[in-house]
Amino acid sequence: MQSSIKTILDWYKEISLLEKVRALLDWDMNVNLPKNGSQGRGEQSSLIAQLVTERWLDKKFVAQLTNIDISALSAEEKAIVQSAKRLGKYYLRVPRELILKKASMTTNAFMIWAEAKKNNNFADFVSLLTSLVSIDKEIASYLSDGGDPYDALLDLYEPGLSGKTCKQVICSLQPTLSTFLEKIISSSVYKNKKPVTGVFTIEKQHELVHLMLKKMSYDLSSGCLHTSSHPFTTTLDRHDVRITTRYNEHDYREALTSTIHEAGHALYELGVDERYSYTPLEGGVSMAIHESQSRFWENQVGRNPAYLLHLLPFVKDILGYTIDHKSFVLQLNDVKRSFIRTEADELTYPLHIMLRFEIESELINEGASVRDLPQMWNEKMKKYLGVIPPNDREGVLQDVHWAYGAFGYFPSYALGNIYAAQFAFAMKKELNFDGLLQTGDTQPILDWLRVHIHRYGGRYLPEELIKKVTGSPLTSSHYLEYLKDKYSKIYETTL
Ligand code: ZN
Repeated sequence: MQSSIKTILDWYKEISLLEKVRALLDWDMNVNLPKNGSQGRGEQSSLIAQLVTERWLDKKFVAQLTNIDISALSAEEKAIVQSAKRLGKYYLRVPRELILKKASMTTNAFMIWAEAKKNNNFADFVSLLTSLVSIDKEIASYLSDGGDPYDALLDLYEPGLSGKTCKQVICSLQPTLSTFLEKIISSSVYKNKKPVTGVFTIEKQHELVHLMLKKMSYDLSSGCLHTSSHPFTTTLDRHDVRITTRYNEHDYREALTSTIHEAGHALYELGVDERYSYTPLEGGVSMAIHESQSRFWENQVGRNPAYLLHLLPFVKDILGYTIDHKSFVLQLNDVKRSFIRTEADELTYPLHIMLRFEIESELINEGASVRDLPQMWNEKMKKYLGVIPPNDREGVLQDVHWAYGAFGYFPSYALGNIYAAQFAFAMKKELNFDGLLQTGDTQPILDWLRVHIHRYGGRYLPEELIKKVTGSPLTSSHYLEYLKDKYSKIYETTL
């Protein structure tokens, strides 16, 4: 190993450890923190964030990373250097003053957004959002090498992703998905479906989701399950990947599906080759590939009619809920014209993302005015989902992402579903997928994911990984086929 690679790895390990300390503070804030502890926690977290920034900007480290002769490196070492450059790109390319300016601008962002949302008053959010659009445009100018500014922001969250790809694989789905939605909603099965009724105690749901974790081989000696208002996964170490869920006493689906989703993220992190721990290749390679793993478990497994046949007796037994298989499948594969992205089903989800993608690219690339956002939002909702939110709280103000200036983050959510369908297509050539699910034996499925995806961590970029695993570049055709096949059977209609 070249000595400069060793220096890079030693230095990166400190960044990685600091990031995990920050993750622990965040986890604790979401799971345990007493109300009066929030100010102190804010100061602790921002100190660690500052230390991380300083580590990235260290002159010796930057020089090593910039000047290393990659021609003399092995393929894996090259991947380490490229990944470090990618992870540090924001710090290495954007002037320090600008990074600090954005950090200070977003200090109170959550509060401003939460107030505006609570009061249903978009006008209170306009000034902050306008400043954030402007600073992100400036940041993009340092990252884009003279190219497309929005592409430069997308690349921060999903390496290699461009607006052109978003249009090809997400926006192109719209006419078909809007038609599927229409047909499903007008089907007689849809009109006669039964709503979820009854009360499901948290104790019983707790037992059910723990059973799910066991079935998925999520190892509780390398993680834990807690409760938080927004479920999430956090990696504190290669052997400590924690998840959270939330319970709704009137709807058993919330805890069940969010636990499966987060466990899907955790299994990915727990499956990365141990040799990559504390290196730039640790953890999942990108947001979209991560989301492909969580959504694979949530949708392709957890909502699969064959798997629901296996789960039904456990649900009856543990929750004391009497329901037939057909209704159970319909409840877990409900389709609706919802206003809220986080509550959207797998069929309408890409439409919510497409709307955000179009608005973001208009803001960053085409000079759209922040003041016009509510109108743009509602027009697109009407066009793609056929509904207009009754207020901005359930419309343009629903997500926190823009309050942090995270433009370019949303598309990776939708890509997760699309990647998942393409991975599943490849997996089904080798495994009797539905047969395994009917018996509840998901171990071969996990083993397949481990061998083909998880163990590589950040070794291959998303576009390399999808080709390596499936033999083709990313395409939305498998996702459309999957939706068509699944929903036409469930709703007994021709899609
Ligand atoms: Zn997720």
